[in-house]
Amino acid sequence: MPLTGNLLIGQRAVPGTEAPIHAIDPATDQPLEPAYPGASAEQVVQACALAWAAFDAYRDTSLEQRACFLETIAEQIEALGDELIERAVAETGLPSARILGERGRTSTQLRSFARVVRAGEWLDVRVDTALPERQPLPRPDLRQRQVAVGPVAVFGASNFPLAFSVAGGDTASALAAGCPVVVKAHSAHPGTGELVGRAVAKAAQLCGLPEGVFSLLYGAGRAVGIGLVSDPRIKAVGFTGSRSGGLALCQAAQARPEPIPVYAEMASINPVLLFDAALHNRGEALAQGFVASLTQGAGQFCTNPGLVIARQGPALQRFIETASEHLRQAQAQTMLTPGIFNAYQAGIAALAENRNAQLAARGLPAQGPNQCQAQLLLTEANAFLADPALHAEVFGAASLVVVCTSDDQMREVTEHLEGQLTATLHMDDADLDAARALLPILERKAGRILVNGWPTGVEVCDAMVHGGPFPATSNTRSTSVGSAAILRFLRPVCYQGFPDALLPSALQHANPLHLRRLLDSQREA
Ligand code: NAP
Repeated sequence: MPLTGNLLIGQRAVPGTEAPIHAIDPATDQPLEPAYPGASAEQVVQACALAWAAFDAYRDTSLEQRACFLETIAEQIEALGDELIERAVAETGLPSARILGERGRTSTQLRSFARVVRAGEWLDVRVDTALPERQPLPRPDLRQRQVAVGPVAVFGASNFPLAFSVAGGDTASALAAGCPVVVKAHSAHPGTGELVGRAVAKAAQLCGLPEGVFSLLYGAGRAVGIGLVSDPRIKAVGFTGSRSGGLALCQAAQARPEPIPVYAEMASINPVLLFDAALHNRGEALAQGFVASLTQGAGQFCTNPGLVIARQGPALQRFIETASEHLRQAQAQTMLTPGIFNAYQAGIAALAENRNAQLAARGLPAQGPNQCQAQLLLTEANAFLADPALHAEVFGAASLVVVCTSDDQMREVTEHLEGQLTATLHMDDADLDAARALLPILERKAGRILVNGWPTGVEVCDAMVHGGPFPATSNTRSTSVGSAAILRFLRPVCYQGFPDALLPSALQHANPLHLRRLLDSQREA
């Protein structure tokens, strides 16, 4: 079925009534058909009202029903075949191999949340049985479980058109929790959004779910996005994008009569700390690995290594020279949107004008529109400490090496960093003490700390944390990747003195869902 440009308000495909957006093929700078008219304020209200109407029925579905829904979405996305891959390539400039990989990751995420839902651990059932004989006062029967927070607004990310967009991690974890979802598609890839949105709507229909469980809107962030976050029926927000966009949504959410949580993933420069022995023993291999991580996907990953911190000396000098040699061979790559390309150019221009930053190497020049030419820059630690402009994220394949004079200065530089998604240590055995001394700082700064790896490439698993203190995210207590992402969209409810017949099945005395409960302070086997 050809693309229509229609919004999806539940099962209804309707045209928006506001100014249209067109996707742009960043490889050619040409607009792509069809036009995507933006949702009106009234259409935003309709989608939210439908989500609210679906909420109680959807959160009351059985674990099996909800898991099947997530699996059916994965099947429906896979059934889109090459049409989805071709459209995503055209809208993002990303190679088809990357989009294929991302489709695999999207279905894997949906299926892994289906497993999470079935296992039911997230319900976190706690039972304190009644103690009628307790002195001086009896204890009533108390039971706790997690419930869905309500309809969630999801903002698709520009840099993951599948895995963090319409049916990406935010949507999958919200649906898993029992929350209907209203997505604001990213304006850079509305066609990809429409295809995936139709797959989700079809899955909802096949699974017999209330139509309001999913809606998809297009339109400008400042109108549709703020309208969505301000709607009283929306109870939480998932977002990946710029610091300014994330903060605008946080402010809108806080300004509501009923403020709501915003889980915004924003800016991170992902420091990499190179310790002396590692630099000395394998500096050249580190330089090669670093450039591969920096230039992957034109550097358009939230975990791109934008900062290197190391002690001055011949080993660091060799690392910089080898990294520069590799970087000079790096092909320029098409960026996701003309806007992201322009922001990269502006960031690079600001560094070029900054007398505290010195260019070490540039990648191969651009051969077409919107191509990112990789950059490696150097600065002295004292200059970095004094100049906040050097701490800013330049989204793309640019990185800054901060040259320190001592271990103490490496610590000082680390202490001055803002919150980060990741921090990476490259170390050998002889570096253990220096690394251990930095660990308490890194635990305060980052959501994930890696040893002898590269931060790009985020595993979808139970132990993953893709989060971190501000400005990496707006809520330091959460992750947007991995099974723990479901916790963002849950809240605890305690049931006191309930007769068994009135309790939800997860809390009933006979434990019909076979959950591993915390029963009278003992974890059940
Ligand atoms: P963005 O501009 O923040 O846009 C993301 C989404 O938020 C879009 O749907 C956008 O709507 C909406 N939005 C933006 N500003 C808004 C506002 N003031 N009020 C309400 N909604 C708003 O992010 P982007 O387009 O993905 O990329 C732009 C820059 O973000 C990049 O150059 C990079 O610096 C940063 N970025 C960072 C990461 C990361 O993970 N760290 C990832 C991607 C991007 P529209 O439809 O109106 O655009």
